Amino acid sequence: MSDKKSTTRPRVRFAPSPSGELHVGGARTALFNWLFARHHGGAFILRFEDTDTDRNKPELIEPIMESLRWLGLDLDEGPYFQSQRTSIYQEHAKKLLAEGKAYLCYCTPEEIEEKRKMAQVTKQNFRYDGKCRNLTPDERSQFEREGRKGALRIKIDPHGSTVVRDLIRGDVVYAHAELDDFVIQRSDGLPLYNFAVVVDDVTMGITHVIRADEHINNTPKQLLIYSALGFDYTKVKFVHVPMVLAKDRTKLSKRHGATAVFEYLEKGVLPEALVNYLVRLGWSHGDQEIFSMEEMIQKFSLEAVHPSPAIFDEEKLLWLNHHYIMHGDPMRLGELAKQFAIKKGIYSEQEANAISADRWAAVVNFLKERNRTLVELAESSKPFLKDQLEYYDPKAIEKFLTPDKAKLLEHVIEAVKENIDNVSFTATNLDAAVRAKLEANGSSLKEVAQPCRVALSGLTQGPGLFEMMEFLGKKRVIERLEKAISMNINKK
Ligand code: GLU
Repeated sequence: MSDKKSTTRPRVRFAPSPSGELHVGGARTALFNWLFARHHGGAFILRFEDTDTDRNKPELIEPIMESLRWLGLDLDEGPYFQSQRTSIYQEHAKKLLAEGKAYLCYCTPEEIEEKRKMAQVTKQNFRYDGKCRNLTPDERSQFEREGRKGALRIKIDPHGSTVVRDLIRGDVVYAHAELDDFVIQRSDGLPLYNFAVVVDDVTMGITHVIRADEHINNTPKQLLIYSALGFDYTKVKFVHVPMVLAKDRTKLSKRHGATAVFEYLEKGVLPEALVNYLVRLGWSHGDQEIFSMEEMIQKFSLEAVHPSPAIFDEEKLLWLNHHYIMHGDPMRLGELAKQFAIKKGIYSEQEANAISADRWAAVVNFLKERNRTLVELAESSKPFLKDQLEYYDPKAIEKFLTPDKAKLLEHVIEAVKENIDNVSFTATNLDAAVRAKLEANGSSLKEVAQPCRVALSGLTQGPGLFEMMEFLGKKRVIERLEKAISMNINKK
């Protein structure tokens, strides 16, 4: 049996709270977990941390899972839902209470608030004073008789300290004097965040906790819970991956533009481009920029994750996307471009479906050089795939389809009609025939190129003129040139 299948195979988890869409920072954390699991032949587990009923949005569960699927981060286990595991937390809470490692606190929220305010007045950090730690049995029953329900607090030795050994940050020491006997289970029996995380990580056999940097200050509390549960936390590796910041070095947020994974899907970014982009957010392998999934799995290591924050740069993501459009399978990209064309209302469903898969693939090859997303590509395919030109740039018409210039288009029509049949309708042949015809009539390509381009595409920019003609085919080229000439006559 190979080592990879032995009991030491790592188990990691991605544990989003379904209070928002999966954003790029979260996706990066998920990816690092997934790569680590795949690299070591371990298990990647999904767990929804949905105990905060005020902030949870159950309708986000499926979109988060869909985003992970789209990125190709397949699960070995889960999804688990903390909201369905209350009895497991309660069982562990009961045990801690029975062992004297935790105690019931009957202080009311008002009493706690009062103490918090006092701390503010004296400019001290609020720490629970341990009032209920040493209640006598009589005092306890008195509170119970009053109908008070106790919250469960863990006992923390105020004199010690706890060291978080983080693979990226190194050792971070937390003095217990900074902590207090914090609540692990509310008086209504629901677990608090740190407690649920640890019970889950222990019962799910998590070996490596790989999560966002912002959680590091929760870790000492969690380590104390591990110990109280009788679990040796030194067996678990903790890895807090640096933040993803915006270019202005503030926390990446909506105001910086798209941050959710699905927004990039909607923009026509390919999953392989986004994954490739995300892996480089804080991880590197020499100066290599392009990684296939297989390469990432093979080369990924937590040791090579950088300690400094990563900066999110959409331009670089689009650069990578362009790379994958340039080198991707045109049939697949053509199908995707078609789907975007329909979804974004660029084509009607009927129009898009009337165009063959080969033709969609051909337009990808034809336009890939100039487009960084599939939505852009679908948009710019309109003049080339649709029968009729729907749009002419008004400025281009005014400048390039003047009566004298439009007249020169007659020569192009003649050249096309006279010299080239459908089979030999290639850019090279067209180039030679059109030039020759223009010269014979005392004109030149220089004079005709832009009017011709506007007549064929409605625009002043785009692929090479003769490539454009070849792509459109003889019939459409003649029709469009004739239409441009007649448009000009109608204008007069
Ligand atoms: N639920 C936490 C979050 O969404 C993750 C906590 C963890 O990974 O331990 O940020």
